[in-house]
Amino acid sequence: MKNAFVIGHPIAHSLSPVLHGFWLKKYGIDGFYKAIDVPPDELNQFTSRLRSGEFVGGNVTLPHKQAIFDLCDEIDPDARAIGAVNTLIMRDEKLVGSNTDHLGFAANLDQMAPGWDEKKGTAIVLGAGGAARAVLVALAVRGFTQIHILNRSAQKARDLANELPGPFSGHALNEFAELAGAIHLLVNTTSIGMHGTSFDNLPLSALPKSALITDIVYTPLITPLLADAQKAGLRIVDGLGMLLHQAVPGFEAWFGTRPEVTSELRDLLIEKLRQS
Ligand code: NDP
Repeated sequence: MKNAFVIGHPIAHSLSPVLHGFWLKKYGIDGFYKAIDVPPDELNQFTSRLRSGEFVGGNVTLPHKQAIFDLCDEIDPDARAIGAVNTLIMRDEKLVGSNTDHLGFAANLDQMAPGWDEKKGTAIVLGAGGAARAVLVALAVRGFTQIHILNRSAQKARDLANELPGPFSGHALNEFAELAGAIHLLVNTTSIGMHGTSFDNLPLSALPKSALITDIVYTPLITPLLADAQKAGLRIVDGLGMLLHQAVPGFEAWFGTRPEVTSELRDLLIEKLRQS
Protein backbone atom coordinates (compact mmCIF):
# COMPACT_ATOMS: atom_id res chain seq x y z
CA MET A 1 0.00 0.00 0.00
CA LYS A 2 1.22 3.52 -0.86
CA ASN A 3 0.84 6.14 1.87
CA ALA A 4 0.81 9.91 1.52
CA PHE A 5 0.09 12.76 3.93
CA VAL A 6 -0.51 16.43 4.54
CA ILE A 7 1.54 17.94 7.34
CA GLY A 8 0.82 21.23 9.08
CA HIS A 9 0.18 22.72 12.51
CA PRO A 10 -2.76 22.89 13.08
CA ILE A 11 -4.00 20.47 10.42
CA ALA A 12 -7.50 19.32 11.46
CA HIS A 13 -9.16 21.85 9.09
CA SER A 14 -7.39 20.53 5.96
CA LEU A 15 -9.62 19.43 3.07
CA SER A 16 -6.78 17.51 1.42
CA PRO A 17 -7.65 14.10 2.98
CA VAL A 18 -11.22 14.42 1.59
CA LEU A 19 -9.89 15.35 -1.82
CA HIS A 20 -7.25 12.61 -2.11
CA GLY A 21 -9.50 10.07 -0.38
CA PHE A 22 -12.14 10.71 -3.07
CA TRP A 23 -9.62 10.01 -5.85
CA LEU A 24 -8.13 6.91 -4.15
CA LYS A 25 -11.62 5.42 -3.94
CA LYS A 26 -12.67 6.53 -7.41
CA TYR A 27 -9.61 4.98 -9.09
CA GLY A 28 -9.54 1.88 -6.86
CA ILE A 29 -5.98 2.56 -5.69
CA ASP A 30 -4.50 0.64 -2.77
CA GLY A 31 -3.33 3.75 -0.96
CA PHE A 32 -3.91 5.98 2.00
CA TYR A 33 -3.70 9.76 2.53
CA LYS A 34 -3.85 11.21 6.02
CA ALA A 35 -3.44 14.50 7.87
CA ILE A 36 -0.57 14.55 10.37
CA ASP A 37 -0.11 17.34 12.89
CA VAL A 38 3.60 18.17 12.92
CA PRO A 39 4.66 21.03 15.24
CA PRO A 40 7.61 23.13 13.94
CA ASP A 41 10.13 21.57 16.32
CA GLU A 42 9.24 18.07 15.02
CA LEU A 43 9.60 18.78 11.29
CA ASN A 44 13.17 17.50 11.12
CA GLN A 45 12.18 14.28 12.86
CA PHE A 46 9.25 13.86 10.46
CA THR A 47 11.52 14.05 7.42
CA SER A 48 13.58 11.16 8.88
CA ARG A 49 10.37 9.13 9.05
CA LEU A 50 9.69 10.08 5.44
CA ARG A 51 13.13 8.93 4.33
CA SER A 52 12.58 5.56 6.02
CA GLY A 53 10.15 4.68 3.21
CA GLU A 54 6.90 4.92 5.16
CA PHE A 55 5.44 7.38 2.61
CA VAL A 56 5.61 8.05 -1.13
CA GLY A 57 5.24 11.76 -0.43
CA GLY A 58 2.70 14.31 0.67
CA ASN A 59 1.59 17.88 0.99
CA VAL A 60 3.02 20.61 3.19
CA THR A 61 0.96 23.45 4.58
CA LEU A 62 1.36 26.24 7.14
CA PRO A 63 3.69 26.81 8.95
CA HIS A 64 6.16 24.49 7.17
CA LYS A 65 6.11 25.70 3.54
CA GLN A 66 9.44 27.56 3.90
CA ALA A 67 11.08 25.58 6.71
CA ILE A 68 10.91 22.36 4.66
CA PHE A 69 13.22 23.90 2.01
CA ASP A 70 16.41 23.15 3.93
CA LEU A 71 15.31 19.59 4.69
CA CYS A 72 14.81 18.56 1.03
CA ASP A 73 17.52 17.01 -1.18
CA GLU A 74 16.21 18.81 -4.26
CA ILE A 75 13.91 21.78 -4.83
CA ASP A 76 12.32 22.22 -8.22
CA PRO A 77 12.75 25.60 -9.97
CA ASP A 78 9.10 26.66 -9.57
CA ALA A 79 9.17 26.05 -5.82
CA ARG A 80 12.40 28.05 -5.65
CA ALA A 81 10.83 30.97 -7.55
CA ILE A 82 7.69 30.87 -5.41
CA GLY A 83 9.76 30.53 -2.24
CA ALA A 84 7.60 27.74 -0.81
CA VAL A 85 7.13 23.98 -1.05
CA ASN A 86 3.61 22.52 -0.98
CA THR A 87 4.32 19.02 -2.37
CA LEU A 88 6.95 16.46 -1.38
CA ILE A 89 7.86 13.45 -3.51
CA MET A 90 10.22 10.61 -2.58
CA ARG A 91 12.14 9.96 -5.82
CA ASP A 92 15.11 7.54 -6.01
CA GLU A 93 15.45 7.80 -2.23
CA LYS A 94 15.70 11.57 -2.51
CA LEU A 95 13.24 14.02 -0.96
CA VAL A 96 12.12 16.42 -3.70
CA GLY A 97 10.21 19.62 -2.88
CA SER A 98 7.93 21.21 -5.46
CA ASN A 99 5.15 23.76 -5.65
CA THR A 100 1.94 23.09 -7.56
CA ASP A 101 -0.08 26.19 -6.58
CA HIS A 102 0.77 28.02 -9.83
CA LEU A 103 -0.39 25.01 -11.86
CA GLY A 104 -3.59 24.82 -9.78
CA PHE A 105 -4.32 28.50 -10.30
CA ALA A 106 -3.91 28.31 -14.09
CA ALA A 107 -5.73 24.97 -14.46
CA ASN A 108 -8.75 26.35 -12.57
CA LEU A 109 -9.05 29.21 -15.06
CA ASP A 110 -8.43 26.83 -17.99
CA GLN A 111 -11.40 24.78 -16.81
CA MET A 112 -13.77 27.57 -15.73
CA ALA A 113 -12.88 30.34 -18.21
CA PRO A 114 -11.30 28.71 -21.28
CA GLY A 115 -9.29 31.19 -23.35
CA TRP A 116 -8.62 33.42 -20.30
CA ASP A 117 -4.94 33.75 -21.25
CA GLU A 118 -5.35 34.05 -25.04
CA LYS A 119 -4.91 37.84 -25.16
CA LYS A 120 -1.61 37.68 -23.22
CA GLY A 121 -2.76 40.99 -21.79
CA THR A 122 -2.56 42.98 -18.58
CA ALA A 123 -3.40 41.77 -15.08
CA ILE A 124 -3.78 43.24 -11.62
CA VAL A 125 -2.83 40.97 -8.73
CA LEU A 126 -4.01 42.17 -5.31
CA GLY A 127 -1.60 41.07 -2.57
CA ALA A 128 2.10 40.33 -2.27
CA GLY A 129 2.17 37.39 0.14
CA GLY A 130 3.00 33.72 -0.38
CA ALA A 131 0.00 32.91 -2.58
CA ALA A 132 0.60 35.99 -4.75
CA ARG A 133 4.01 34.60 -5.72
CA ALA A 134 2.43 31.44 -7.14
CA VAL A 135 -0.15 33.46 -9.09
CA LEU A 136 2.54 35.79 -10.46
CA VAL A 137 4.63 32.83 -11.66
CA ALA A 138 1.53 31.38 -13.37
CA LEU A 139 0.71 34.65 -15.15
CA ALA A 140 4.30 35.12 -16.32
CA VAL A 141 4.37 31.52 -17.63
CA ARG A 142 1.08 32.12 -19.51
CA GLY A 143 2.61 35.16 -21.22
CA PHE A 144 0.81 38.13 -19.63
CA THR A 145 2.69 41.19 -20.87
CA GLN A 146 2.05 43.52 -17.94
CA ILE A 147 1.28 42.49 -14.38
CA HIS A 148 0.61 45.09 -11.69
CA ILE A 149 1.02 43.96 -8.08
CA LEU A 150 -1.08 46.06 -5.69
CA ASN A 151 -0.59 45.66 -1.98
CA ARG A 152 -1.51 47.34 1.31
CA SER A 153 2.21 47.68 1.90
CA ALA A 154 3.28 49.18 -1.45
CA GLN A 155 6.97 48.65 -0.70
CA LYS A 156 6.38 44.90 -0.39
CA ALA A 157 4.71 44.96 -3.82
CA ARG A 158 7.64 46.87 -5.33
CA ASP A 159 10.18 44.52 -3.73
CA LEU A 160 8.34 41.49 -5.10
CA ALA A 161 8.11 43.06 -8.57
CA ASN A 162 11.89 43.58 -8.51
CA GLU A 163 12.67 40.13 -7.17
CA LEU A 164 10.67 37.92 -9.54
CA PRO A 165 11.65 37.60 -13.21
CA GLY A 166 8.72 38.87 -15.31
CA PRO A 167 6.82 41.99 -16.46
CA PHE A 168 5.89 43.06 -12.93
CA SER A 169 5.38 46.49 -11.35
CA GLY A 170 4.57 47.21 -7.70
CA HIS A 171 1.91 49.67 -6.46
CA ALA A 172 -0.26 50.68 -3.53
CA LEU A 173 -3.86 49.43 -3.37
CA ASN A 174 -5.16 52.96 -3.87
CA GLU A 175 -3.66 53.06 -7.38
CA PHE A 176 -6.33 50.57 -8.51
CA ALA A 177 -8.62 53.12 -10.23
CA GLU A 178 -5.88 54.57 -12.43
CA LEU A 179 -4.57 51.13 -13.52
CA ALA A 180 -7.90 49.31 -13.91
CA GLY A 181 -8.97 50.67 -17.32
CA ALA A 182 -6.69 48.40 -19.38
CA ILE A 183 -7.08 45.18 -17.38
CA HIS A 184 -7.96 41.73 -18.75
CA LEU A 185 -7.69 39.86 -15.45
CA LEU A 186 -8.05 40.83 -11.78
CA VAL A 187 -6.89 38.36 -9.13
CA ASN A 188 -7.31 38.71 -5.39
CA THR A 189 -4.58 36.89 -3.44
CA THR A 190 -4.94 38.86 -0.20
CA SER A 191 -6.73 37.30 2.74
CA ILE A 192 -9.49 39.92 2.34
CA GLY A 193 -12.69 38.10 1.52
CA MET A 194 -12.18 35.41 4.14
CA HIS A 195 -15.29 35.13 6.26
CA GLY A 196 -16.98 37.88 4.26
CA THR A 197 -14.50 40.76 4.71
CA SER A 198 -14.25 43.26 1.86
CA PHE A 199 -11.96 45.93 0.38
CA ASP A 200 -12.61 49.51 1.54
CA ASN A 201 -12.27 51.13 -1.84
CA LEU A 202 -11.94 49.07 -5.00
CA PRO A 203 -13.94 50.75 -7.78
CA LEU A 204 -14.78 47.81 -10.05
CA SER A 205 -16.62 50.22 -12.35
CA ALA A 206 -13.16 51.32 -13.58
CA LEU A 207 -12.59 47.85 -15.13
CA PRO A 208 -13.46 47.05 -18.76
CA LYS A 209 -16.68 45.01 -19.09
CA SER A 210 -14.62 42.17 -20.64
CA ALA A 211 -12.40 41.75 -17.54
CA LEU A 212 -12.32 38.40 -15.74
CA ILE A 213 -12.29 38.53 -11.93
CA THR A 214 -11.00 35.66 -9.79
CA ASP A 215 -10.45 35.32 -6.06
CA ILE A 216 -8.24 32.61 -4.59
CA VAL A 217 -10.05 32.91 -1.25
CA TYR A 218 -12.79 30.26 -1.23
CA THR A 219 -14.37 30.71 2.22
CA PRO A 220 -16.97 31.92 1.36
CA LEU A 221 -17.06 30.54 -2.16
CA ILE A 222 -18.47 33.79 -3.50
CA THR A 223 -16.44 36.45 -1.70
CA PRO A 224 -17.74 40.04 -1.47
CA LEU A 225 -15.32 40.94 -4.31
CA LEU A 226 -16.82 38.25 -6.56
CA ALA A 227 -20.36 39.22 -5.57
CA ASP A 228 -19.66 42.88 -6.43
CA ALA A 229 -18.06 41.86 -9.73
CA GLN A 230 -21.07 39.72 -10.59
CA LYS A 231 -23.37 42.64 -9.80
CA ALA A 232 -21.28 44.82 -12.12
CA GLY A 233 -21.83 42.28 -14.93
CA LEU A 234 -18.22 40.98 -14.93
CA ARG A 235 -17.21 37.33 -15.41
CA ILE A 236 -16.04 35.60 -12.23
CA VAL A 237 -14.24 32.39 -11.21
CA ASP A 238 -14.06 31.29 -7.56
CA GLY A 239 -10.93 29.97 -5.84
CA LEU A 240 -12.01 26.44 -4.89
CA GLY A 241 -10.77 25.04 -8.21
CA MET A 242 -7.23 26.23 -7.44
CA LEU A 243 -7.23 23.98 -4.36
CA LEU A 244 -8.60 21.05 -6.37
CA HIS A 245 -6.23 21.42 -9.32
CA GLN A 246 -3.06 22.01 -7.25
CA ALA A 247 -3.59 18.51 -5.85
CA VAL A 248 -3.47 16.79 -9.26
CA PRO A 249 0.33 16.67 -9.88
CA GLY A 250 1.04 15.34 -6.36
CA PHE A 251 -1.55 12.58 -6.60
CA GLU A 252 -0.19 11.56 -9.99
CA ALA A 253 3.41 11.46 -8.72
CA TRP A 254 2.55 9.40 -5.61
CA PHE A 255 -0.08 7.01 -6.94
CA GLY A 256 0.65 6.84 -10.70
CA THR A 257 -2.77 7.98 -11.94
CA ARG A 258 -3.61 11.48 -13.15
CA PRO A 259 -6.89 12.31 -11.41
CA GLU A 260 -9.70 14.40 -12.86
CA VAL A 261 -11.26 17.46 -11.25
CA THR A 262 -14.99 16.83 -11.70
CA SER A 263 -18.16 18.60 -10.60
CA GLU A 264 -18.82 15.64 -8.27
CA LEU A 265 -15.53 16.32 -6.45
CA ARG A 266 -16.22 20.05 -6.35
CA ASP A 267 -19.70 19.46 -4.87
CA LEU A 268 -18.22 17.16 -2.21
CA LEU A 269 -15.76 19.86 -1.15
CA ILE A 270 -18.47 22.53 -1.12
CA GLU A 271 -20.52 20.28 1.18
CA LYS A 272 -17.50 19.81 3.50
CA LEU A 273 -16.95 23.57 3.60
CA ARG A 274 -20.61 24.07 4.46
CA GLN A 275 -20.29 21.65 7.38
CA SER A 276 -17.09 23.20 8.78
P1 NDP B 1 0.07 35.91 3.36
O1 NDP B 1 -0.11 36.12 4.83
O2 NDP B 1 1.38 35.47 2.84
O3 NDP B 1 -0.32 37.28 2.59
C1 NDP B 1 -1.47 37.99 2.94
C2 NDP B 1 -1.71 39.12 1.95
O4 NDP B 1 -2.97 39.74 2.27
C3 NDP B 1 -0.66 40.23 1.99
O5 NDP B 1 -0.51 40.80 0.70
C4 NDP B 1 -1.31 41.25 2.95
O6 NDP B 1 -0.88 42.58 2.75
C5 NDP B 1 -2.76 41.13 2.53
N1 NDP B 1 -3.69 41.58 3.58
C6 NDP B 1 -4.00 40.91 4.72
N2 NDP B 1 -4.90 41.64 5.44
C7 NDP B 1 -5.16 42.76 4.72
C8 NDP B 1 -5.98 43.90 4.93
N3 NDP B 1 -6.75 44.02 6.03
N4 NDP B 1 -6.01 44.87 3.97
C9 NDP B 1 -5.25 44.76 2.86
N5 NDP B 1 -4.43 43.70 2.61
C10 NDP B 1 -4.38 42.74 3.53
O7 NDP B 1 -1.09 34.89 2.96
P2 NDP B 1 -1.11 33.92 1.68
O8 NDP B 1 -0.60 34.67 0.52
O9 NDP B 1 -0.49 32.62 2.01
O10 NDP B 1 -2.68 33.62 1.52
C11 NDP B 1 -3.60 34.63 1.13
C12 NDP B 1 -4.98 34.01 0.94
O11 NDP B 1 -4.97 33.10 -0.15
C13 NDP B 1 -5.48 33.23 2.15
O12 NDP B 1 -6.81 33.62 2.40
C14 NDP B 1 -5.43 31.78 1.72
O13 NDP B 1 -6.46 31.00 2.30
C15 NDP B 1 -5.66 31.90 0.20
N6 NDP B 1 -5.07 30.78 -0.54
C16 NDP B 1 -5.87 30.05 -1.37
C17 NDP B 1 -5.35 28.98 -2.10
C18 NDP B 1 -6.24 28.17 -2.96
O14 NDP B 1 -5.86 27.03 -3.28
N7 NDP B 1 -7.38 28.68 -3.40
C19 NDP B 1 -3.92 28.63 -2.00
C20 NDP B 1 -3.15 29.49 -1.12
C21 NDP B 1 -3.73 30.52 -0.41
P3 NDP B 1 0.44 43.16 3.55
O15 NDP B 1 1.63 42.63 2.82
O16 NDP B 1 0.30 44.63 3.45
O17 NDP B 1 0.34 42.64 4.96
